[in-house]
Amino acid sequence: EFAEALNRPISDIIKVLFDLGMMMTKNDFLGNDEIEILSEEFEVEVTIIDPKDEFTHDEEDIEEDPDATERAPVITIMGHVDHGKTSLLDAIRKAKVTDGEAGGITQHIGAYTIEQHGKAITFIDTPGHAAFSHMRQKGTDITDIIIIVVAADDGVKPQTLEVIKMAQESGAPIIVALNKMDKETAQPDMVKGQMAEHGISPVDWGGDIEFVPVSAKSGMGIDDLLENILTTAEILELKANENALAKAAVIESSLEKGRGPVATVIVQNGTLRVGDYVVCGAAYGRVKAMMDEHNKQVKTLLPSHTAVIAGLNEVPASGEVMTVMQNEKEAKEFALKRHEYDRHKELSISTKSSLEDMTAMIAEGKLKSLKVVLKTDVHGTLEAIKSSITALRNDEVKVNIISSGVGGITENDVELVNNSENCVLLGFNVRPTGAVKASAKQKGVEIKTYSIIYQLIDDITGMLTGMMSPKY
Ligand code: GDP
Repeated sequence: EFAEALNRPISDIIKVLFDLGMMMTKNDFLGNDEIEILSEEFEVEVTIIDPKDEFTHDEEDIEEDPDATERAPVITIMGHVDHGKTSLLDAIRKAKVTDGEAGGITQHIGAYTIEQHGKAITFIDTPGHAAFSHMRQKGTDITDIIIIVVAADDGVKPQTLEVIKMAQESGAPIIVALNKMDKETAQPDMVKGQMAEHGISPVDWGGDIEFVPVSAKSGMGIDDLLENILTTAEILELKANENALAKAAVIESSLEKGRGPVATVIVQNGTLRVGDYVVCGAAYGRVKAMMDEHNKQVKTLLPSHTAVIAGLNEVPASGEVMTVMQNEKEAKEFALKRHEYDRHKELSISTKSSLEDMTAMIAEGKLKSLKVVLKTDVHGTLEAIKSSITALRNDEVKVNIISSGVGGITENDVELVNNSENCVLLGFNVRPTGAVKASAKQKGVEIKTYSIIYQLIDDITGMLTGMMSPKY
């Protein structure tokens, strides 16, 4: 694809990579690093767009969008184990349950929205920083404000420090909840001192971080905490365009009996509606139903709001972004592309690691002969390749062609390689069928296919060179 875009032969691209020590065939997946290197080598400007972002709008767009209006803040609560994250999330929820919902069963869906003085606030209800860092790793940063919980009777602990670091790195504003203030042993000033030492300076000490004394047990200070969140959110001027095609982040997902794949999402922009065609990573579908945490059906979901979505064809990973598409065809096409992308990536990774493994074994001197099973499309190339790679032998290592023939790569070839140690399966202008490919993958047999002879020879040369013991 890169070669096509540049209108150059694939061999040019492969050669550049090879000269830089990257063994790649036309079937390999180019990582971002390789693409960057190639763009420098060929002096072209490249913008790397993750497929999952291809149909999404970035923050700048939203900020400059004249139709954007205020949206609710999304909050993540983090802190050391047992300092009260779960209790605080429960206390906030309980404090804000409206009469109609009182006594109703609340489901844990991974997030919930409450109202404080008519303003919505959404809490991500998967406490712990694992979920947070997972989302961030996936590039799905949906947290607007971080609440760090510290038990006032226990102070700063190792996980508190981890969380401080993570919060600072994310750049999201921080509010500290000094929890367990109902306890006689609470020492808020001691905690403030410890936090200040780590760059979290309380406002009342001249710093810039609000410390709110609370008790998840008694409910004390919860209102204050919520007020603080609203004030912080106001400064952030969080915005979204309710009329845009929706984009939503997956918080949790699972396969449910009777409902199929379901995913809890928080809408980042636009309004998600029942009936929308969506794509979510490699999954796609039509939003069949949306349920809030009270198991109530909702028809529309505004920015920063959350619900469980049913209607996808497979379970998406958390951190994946769900994007609304114009129609089913578009959604399906895009999901297929993503499948293909994921598959290439996976294949490329497994191929590279096994080649590396073998090269490493070779380097350690554990391997003195490289076994090869070779298949080609025509007899002429078969003979040419056979004699070329046999000639590659040197006094330390040699190539041992244990089987060769004209025709496609078969289950038999895979079996043969599987039963021989340190053996590679090479195809020239032939490729395995899907079934053979699947079986090879399952057995961990690597199939390398080529359409350029010198590329094949270069690969083998590279391996043989690695097989020689170092000379001084
Ligand atoms: P997490 O591990 O951070 O989610 O902590 P939990 O919410 O599970 O709380 C750990 C323990 O502290 C539980 O036994 C809670 O009942 C208790 N706890 C939480 N908040 C308070 C509080 O404000 N006051 C008191 N006295 N105990 C609390």
